[in-house]
Amino acid sequence: MDETITLSKIESYLRCPHSYYLDEKLKEVYLPITGFDAKRDWLKQSFKKLVPQAAAMTAKGLKGAELAAVLKYDPVKFANTRQGEWVRRFFDKGEKYCERDIAWLYPEQGWKEGQKINNACRAYYNHLLKEGVPVGDFTEKDIEFYFGGRKWTVRPGVVRYGDIAEEIRTTEITKKKVDKDWTIAPKLYAIYTPAKDPFPEGLWYRRVSLNGGNYHQPNTIIPMYAALNVVENVEKRIANGEFPPNHKNCETCRYNVLTAYNKPACKERKRKLRIMKPISQLIR
Ligand code: SF4
Repeated sequence: MDETITLSKIESYLRCPHSYYLDEKLKEVYLPITGFDAKRDWLKQSFKKLVPQAAAMTAKGLKGAELAAVLKYDPVKFANTRQGEWVRRFFDKGEKYCERDIAWLYPEQGWKEGQKINNACRAYYNHLLKEGVPVGDFTEKDIEFYFGGRKWTVRPGVVRYGDIAEEIRTTEITKKKVDKDWTIAPKLYAIYTPAKDPFPEGLWYRRVSLNGGNYHQPNTIIPMYAALNVVENVEKRIANGEFPPNHKNCETCRYNVLTAYNKPACKERKRKLRIMKPISQLIR
């Protein structure tokens, strides 16, 4: 067992234990990327383009019209440009995404995802004007810390002025799910180490949805020792070789794709479910 706790790996196991097994066995990079994952990455890259590098320092601390003045685009142009490029490259021309084929659920999915990209870009733009540019971005950077005699590796999202940790999702979120989310404590711990457990007043966590624009903060945060219990239970199951499929998440799973050998990447996937394929195979 790896002594380091990598939060994303434990989350992957809890989503579907069999996907954790495949993560360890298959080189994802040799598989097609799903349209869902490509869209998520496209949005992440789009949001980075909104604040030009040269203006990043000036933009810090600004909000509303003052911030809009230093951003590269207005909201409509931003959303339309990112949607237009997506549709042109990945729907009209059928380009690969980062050198990987894109696997779609149905032929028009690329176009439909383009509409969602437009909506998400507008929502993100408005959110940025309201909340300002993050003071720290840990969406692609691991933070390491020690708790319970173990090393943890976590990507906690972004940090904003006012001790707010924030994660952005493109899907709808519910208050109930945020209240029950055991990963929030390690995410706060990563940012505010050496924060005390339970956490001192004044640290905020919120999850923002670009689909509907709402956000939720947890009523109480599940403490670190409880998060450690979740991790240790998962580790026991892994050590026992328990990797059962969780069929609730199959449709959009990155392993619900056809490999280059025309076989499903996941043999345990739910039967009779649509499988994602590159467009050339979908419209044959
Ligand atoms: S396709 Fe289904 S069973 Fe297979 S890894 Fe994905 S979620 Fe799990």
